[in-house]
Amino acid sequence: MVLERFGESLRETLKKITRFGSIDKEAVESIIREIQRSLLQADADVALVFELSKSIRKKVLSEKPPAGMTLKEYFIKTIYDELVKFLGEEKGELELKPQKILIIGLFGSGKTTTSGKLAKWFKIRGLTPALVACDTHRPAAKEQLKQIGKALEVKVYDKGKTPEEIAKHALKEAKEDVLIFDSSGRDALDEALAKELKNLANIIKPDEILLIIPADIGQAARKQAEEFNRLVGITGIVVTKLDGTAKGGGALSATAVSGAKVKFITTGEKPEDIEAYDPRRFVGRLLGYGDIQGLLEKAKEAGISPDAKTAERILSGRFTMKDFYEQISSMQKMGSISKIMEMVPGFSGLKIPKHMLEVQEEKMKRWKYAIDSMTEEERENPDIIKASRITRIAKGSGMSEEDVRELLKYFKQVRKMMKVAKGGKAFKRGPFAKLAKQFGFGL
Ligand code: GDP
Ligand code: MG
Repeated sequence: MVLERFGESLRETLKKITRFGSIDKEAVESIIREIQRSLLQADADVALVFELSKSIRKKVLSEKPPAGMTLKEYFIKTIYDELVKFLGEEKGELELKPQKILIIGLFGSGKTTTSGKLAKWFKIRGLTPALVACDTHRPAAKEQLKQIGKALEVKVYDKGKTPEEIAKHALKEAKEDVLIFDSSGRDALDEALAKELKNLANIIKPDEILLIIPADIGQAARKQAEEFNRLVGITGIVVTKLDGTAKGGGALSATAVSGAKVKFITTGEKPEDIEAYDPRRFVGRLLGYGDIQGLLEKAKEAGISPDAKTAERILSGRFTMKDFYEQISSMQKMGSISKIMEMVPGFSGLKIPKHMLEVQEEKMKRWKYAIDSMTEEERENPDIIKASRITRIAKGSGMSEEDVRELLKYFKQVRKMMKVAKGGKAFKRGPFAKLAKQFGFGL
């Protein structure tokens, strides 16, 4: 899960606010201390954390909440707003037009995989991308990109001996809309790398130079962003590996003050594990408000829904076994279930261990066979499925009766959870409901 512990501790802190009898100076200080602890554990810069604390303190203790908002609500909203500012504020994305993109960064930062992810991102959005393999430094680098290109059905240009030759050749030959140039890294930004990147930038004249930074370097991201920016003038940053580190908060806040904008984040190794970075949505997800917008986008990318309706069905359908079947299929198309759960309001706050979700994912594949073996009536009204029907369905689908029982149990659980997610307690009562609306999560 993205920044699991970070989000969890922040959510706990927000919950405490709702439990206070009244918000006095002491309450504010204790909450600020907890937020500081969460941020520092995520390797955020001390001075930045101090600034954020000052800002929250000043707003909550010396400003009046806007009309119609209680002090508690204002406190939560302030924390939300300040975190958004802290983590970048501005939304990042790339224009959907023909362009040349140079991907740069140190060894192992995720350049090559991100190049592939971006190719897919453009392809889904109707442009024709191609990849250019300018990493001649690492053996097998070309091969890695070629494999990625093959899997995505995206052309890869790799003719030539030096990065410069390869780039020139691609520029001459390529007819595709979007050219993504993967380059080689080094352990540090040394002279050789500096020279190579400058040469490449001169030859390619890219519209975008994206620096790839892995989230696990935490606050060191700032220095790296500044160094590369000075050298070649980056137009944006992609923060990778946010799924596998506790330091993501530090990395994102560090890049926010580097003067360069985070345009994308990546959260896994699969080609679809990339998203345009939107701090408001990101913080919403961290704090457990869910991310409807992100979910709709994933659904769209998977070709499930040209509009919001289908995705909404995934969230809250009237829920028969048929819907469940469709839901399983849709989820499988959208990517891993754990990632989707994270975006669903109400689910994101639930702690479901990752391995459990993975086991579920495996099982769901087989459950489709069982649902196939049900009668129309059973699919419409699964509550009628009792002992003898279970035996029949198990036989028909080649599963054990236990498996079928588990499917039914799970179906009922999901049905129940869907109701929670749709109009859950956290959103119906308390300050969260109003706030979620104000933040644009429209629940
Ligand atoms: P490069 O040396 O900069 O080209 O880095 P690569 O693209 O080859 O990536 C290095 C390793 O990081 C590979 O094993 C990738 O699969 C992995 N990786 C890249 N991005 C992510 C991510 O967002 N999450 C995870 N978990 N792994 C990633
Ligand atoms: Mg590479």
